[in-house]
Amino acid sequence: MSDAKRDYYEVLNVDRAAGADEVKRSYRKLAVRFHPDRNPGDQAAEEKFKEATEAYKVLSDAEQRKIYDTYGHQGLRGAGFEGYSSMEDIFQSFDVFGSVLGDLFGFGGRGPRANRPMKGRNVRVRVPMTFAEAFAGAEKDLALRDESPCTECSGSGAASGGLSTCTECGGSGQVVTRSGFIAMSAACGRCGGHGKLITKACASCSGRGTTTEQRSVHVRIPAGVDTGDQMGIPAEGEPGANGGPRGDLLLVFEVAPDKRFRREGSTLHMDLEISFFQAAMGEKIPVETVDGVEHLRIDAGTQPGAVKRIKRGGMPDPNTGRRGELLVHIVVLVPTRLDRRQRKLIEELRTAFEGKE
Ligand SMILES: [Zn+2]
Ligand SMILES: [Zn+2]
Repeated sequence: MSDAKRDYYEVLNVDRAAGADEVKRSYRKLAVRFHPDRNPGDQAAEEKFKEATEAYKVLSDAEQRKIYDTYGHQGLRGAGFEGYSSMEDIFQSFDVFGSVLGDLFGFGGRGPRANRPMKGRNVRVRVPMTFAEAFAGAEKDLALRDESPCTECSGSGAASGGLSTCTECGGSGQVVTRSGFIAMSAACGRCGGHGKLITKACASCSGRGTTTEQRSVHVRIPAGVDTGDQMGIPAEGEPGANGGPRGDLLLVFEVAPDKRFRREGSTLHMDLEISFFQAAMGEKIPVETVDGVEHLRIDAGTQPGAVKRIKRGGMPDPNTGRRGELLVHIVVLVPTRLDRRQRKLIEELRTAFEGKE
């Protein structure tokens, strides 16, 4: 390996602080573009593919990335990591393709399995819901987008014959600048390190290399779902490869809290404020439940903090449809301001209770 190795972060075109997902996304993009199956006989593409794969191998491994961050290429050589000399080397030593590219190319290596159908990836979506929707169940149209390599240009972004070798770097993707004795190698600014220039963009994807399709999925959400509940919808995830089925769609519900009701699974709690007089003498009191107004009997002598149960007044269980309970917590209000007459009457009442002047 020569010492003119490019910085791995530069190769993958990511920031040094880039997270694992970003590193993976970026590598995936490069790998799709320069994969030898898509660029047969193209030496420059193969070099790019090797370089990107090597960079990804190191940056996706927390331990190797740490060594590289601290000591650079030198440190990795010290730790016994040599880079790749041939394509076979790459495919044999590195099981990245199943996890990063498998869903795009449908291979877990090269060879007879290369074109086998692969199921697409599962997709999770957050589904915000109001309390009322959660209570009654809901039907929703979810807007989803599929991004897949452009079939017209196989992901290269160029129209047929619209790709030419970069005149600036001669196809290597790198330019070397000299300052005295020091030679520095950097990604070619003209072609962005690809080594090729798109002279005519693919009409189908406008040169992006991927196509995005909007689609809408109609879902029926059962009554009673709660925040964090999940629901799987088969075969509505990402498209599969080589005729494989779509992955699954996973809905994750987020139910907004309600002002009146507190929720505990299918049990609902609410507070009911009654007056001291209602508590002492008993009364039928209208209560606004999830089902509308119900008349709740408050017995004479009801204490603060008492709990009245309304059977099947709670949320439905999303699996069985069975309703939980509504627990009504009694809050007794004590008068806060008394005029002279009221005060006198209560004093009389007290005398009647306590038997003293
Ligand atoms: Zn295209
Ligand atoms: Zn160039």
